[in-house]
Amino acid sequence: MPTPFLSHPATLTRRSGAANAHSTTASWRCTRCDKLLGVCRDGRMHLRFARGHEYLVGFPVQATCRGCGTLNHATAPAR
Ligand SMILES: [Zn+2]
Repeated sequence: MPTPFLSHPATLTRRSGAANAHSTTASWRCTRCDKLLGVCRDGRMHLRFARGHEYLVGFPVQATCRGCGTLNHATAPAR
């Protein structure tokens, strides 16, 4: 009696991503309205704008708040 051989595509599942568990993240917020401007991670600022535009910039960084228009400065990564 032939035994049906079952392929297991589920075995392609890999566990990864634990390498980034140590990265430090800190949110950067507008000094006036507390809107989230970006996220500091691994010594750089991660800025996210509308329509999927993202920027990873070094310090010091300046950005205007998209909520109130205040120019915010970040001179060093938050620790
Ligand atoms: Zn603001």
